[in-house]
Amino acid sequence: MANTDAVRIHPAVDDGVARGDPGFSGGVLTCHCASDPVKLRIGAQTAHNHVCGCTKCWKPEGAIFSQVAVVSRDAVEIVQNGDKLEVVDADAPIRRFRCRDCGVHMYGRIENKDHPFYGLDFVHTELSAETGWPAPEFAAFVSSVIESGVDPARMDGIRSRLRELGLEPYDALSPPLMDAIATHIAKRSGALPA
Ligand SMILES: [Zn+2]
Ligand SMILES: [Zn+2]
Repeated sequence: MANTDAVRIHPAVDDGVARGDPGFSGGVLTCHCASDPVKLRIGAQTAHNHVCGCTKCWKPEGAIFSQVAVVSRDAVEIVQNGDKLEVVDADAPIRRFRCRDCGVHMYGRIENKDHPFYGLDFVHTELSAETGWPAPEFAAFVSSVIESGVDPARMDGIRSRLRELGLEPYDALSPPLMDAIATHIAKRSGALPA
């Protein structure tokens, strides 16, 4: 077993994964600006919260993973300073909106109605002062942290630490989400009945 003492994954899990509150029903996400922050109200509980090693998700300073969850786009409402939001990459399948002043990503939205996750927005619940958001459940795109400069020799320790935290490491999404994507594709192609 690799030594995991010095492995930092993300501030939301490094001291242990806090359990979510099943009765929780949303809160307000705030960007990092000291004045005139962007505020977003999430009017529902999020789902599929996970840590993600891809190079597209927003990560807090020093973290090698992001923490990201999904919520129905209907539950996302910009309540303050929405004029500071800009699209990170208009061509990406997920259009991520960041605060142009502090760089924090506030939400990611899919406009392609054929996308398997159309209707869901991607949000970082650590931007909320409320507690009770669902705990992360797994680690996605773990090998991708190498693309952001992590030494491949550290991967054993990183995967061991993720397992210690109960965050099963996957190099894509979790099996249920990969199955959901494949089912969507099979229904569109006719390989499965729609
Ligand atoms: Zn900001
Ligand atoms: Zn990601």
